[in-house]
This record gives sequence, structure tokens and C-alpha cells, in this order.
Amino acid sequence: MRMAVLDGKQIAKEIRDQLAREIEDLKQEGTVPGLAVILVGDHPASRSYVLAKERTCKELGMHSVLTELPESISEEELLEYIQSFNLDEQIDGILVQLPLPSHISESKVIEAILPEKDVDGFHPINIGRMHAGDEQAFIPCTPLGILEMVKQTGEEISGKHVVVVGRSNLVGKPVGQLFLQENATVTFCHSRTKNLTEQTLQADILIAAVGKPNLITEDMVKPGAVVIDVGVNRKENGKLCGDVDFEAIKPKAKHITPVPGGVGPMTITMLMNNTVLASKWRKKLKEVH
Ligand code: NAP
Repeated sequence: MRMAVLDGKQIAKEIRDQLAREIEDLKQEGTVPGLAVILVGDHPASRSYVLAKERTCKELGMHSVLTELPESISEEELLEYIQSFNLDEQIDGILVQLPLPSHISESKVIEAILPEKDVDGFHPINIGRMHAGDEQAFIPCTPLGILEMVKQTGEEISGKHVVVVGRSNLVGKPVGQLFLQENATVTFCHSRTKNLTEQTLQADILIAAVGKPNLITEDMVKPGAVVIDVGVNRKENGKLCGDVDFEAIKPKAKHITPVPGGVGPMTITMLMNNTVLASKWRKKLKEVH
């Protein structure tokens, strides 16, 4: 049974320990899962994300290749890098860190990645497979991490009312879809939703993925709800905070995630999970052919 405050770092560590064992087993069979990460330009936040991804790969004993390209790179050249990783037998997963410079089409880049190496789960084929409930789909890492955290509470999901605030393609839409597949009843809210409080008060599981500090206040939460805060915002004093008024809601919620230390640590772990999965699927395919 998990504590009321869900410790994302601890849950992520437990999953990584399990992944490390699976990677060791794969190595015994002659396979080393490999991830290629491409960073275009030197945006500080993007750089710190890719370095963290590379570090985690190494900690888990995975093969990792970091390619840093200048902001001025052409779309064509970037597509050539992707193609070379598509063909690289040592690479199971390819991730292009977003956002990209404005002269490069993100959708073209995402669609250039082989769906079976799209460990971010952004390729239209993987999005389609996820919506169809196909098991051979890569699920985007943040939504997958959120589902895993809620499962870790031990709470039944089937039949529960999940309210997702935010409908982005990155978080809101896929996370709602995942909970629908777990047989929850799902409501999506967004900037045009009238009377947000009326909706959020219905939530057995409330997921806030907006990017607005303190959008979710104590009066918007049903007693005993599970509250998942995806938001990452910076306060005036420079400290990180989520979308949820954590201190006020904590006594009321059955489980709640903090920011930082909640959903954030799960995201990279789920990327590693998807890369190990990619490696296993590709290995199976090779054995069949
Ligand atoms: P996004 O693309 O900006 O989407 C924000 C969503 O919030 C939109 O659907 C928007 O509605 C909705 N919204 C805006 N104002 C609202 C309001 N007053 N009431 C209700 N809904 C409102 O953001 P995102 O990429 O989904 O990210 C959301 C947050 O999660 C950000 O803080 C981001 O930094 C964080 N995040 C964290 C992680 C992690 O690993 N921890 C990963 C990804 C994102 P409309 O669609 O109507 O505009």
C-alpha cells in the first residue's frame, strides 16, 4: 500500500530496478537495448532532459547514442540522421527531443521514425494503435507513467470517474484514453469547459495537465479522490510547482502527487521501459524471420 503522498522517485526507482534485471537477462541472450537521442540546438531545458535520458540509459546498462546537432541543421539532414538510426541494428528506440526549430516540421520528423522504434509513442501509427487498444503500441511516456502511479496506489480503476483537465496530444488526450481502456468513465476538460469545479468535483481520479499554478483548489476536489498533478510551473521565487494547490488538498485526497518528485521522475523511466519493450519486440521479430 502506497503512502498518501505518492513518491514518484521511489516508484520510478522500483520500476528501474526491475528494468535493470530484464536488461541483464537480455544481455545474457546477446541483446543490448539501445536508444538514440537527437538534440537540435542548445535549449537549456531540452539539453538537461536529454542528458538525464542518456545518464539513465547508462545506469541501466543500455546502449545509448546522443547526437547533438546545430540549430541551423536543415530538415533534410535531420531526416538523414533518423534514417541512419532506423537502419542501425544496435538501436531499438529513437527519440528526437522536442521542440524543434521552426524551420523543421515536427510531424515530418516524427513520421520519419520507424513506428517500431518510436519509443516516445508520437508516431501516428502508434497513436492509432493506442486508441485501438492494440498491445503492440508505444504509449507516450508521461501518460504511461501516470497510469502506472495510479495502479501503484492499489485503487480499483474500473468503473471509476476520471476527470482529465487538459486535452493536449502529449498528455491530456492519451492519458484519458489509457484510463478509458482500464474501464474508467472519462471526462475531458479544457479552457472552454464551463464550470470546471462542477466537473472536477465528480472525479474519483483527478488528473491536472494544464500548466497553471494553483488552478485546482481545495474546493474543486472530492474527499478521498486520487489527485495527479502533471503541471510543471515556476513560481515567482523560482521554485517549481504544479497545477494543484498541494498543501490545501493533501489532507482531503486519498493519494496526491507532489511537484517536483511526482509524475516527473516517472517519465524518463517509462522511456526506458518503452526502449526495453522495443528491444524485446524487435528480437522476437528477428527470431520469427
Ligand atoms: P498544453 O499543450 O499547453 O495543454 C494545456 C491544456 O490545458 C490545454 O488543453 C488547454 O485547453 C488546457 N487549459 C488551459 N487553461 C485552462 C483552464 N483555465 N482550465 C482548464 N483547462 C485549461 O500543455 P501540456 O503539454 O499538456 O502540458 C501540461 C502541463 O504538464 C505543463 O505544465 C507541462 O510542463 C507539464 N508536463 C509535465 C510532464 C512531466 O513529465 N512531468 C510532461 C509533459 C508535460 P485548450 O485545449 O482549450 O487550449
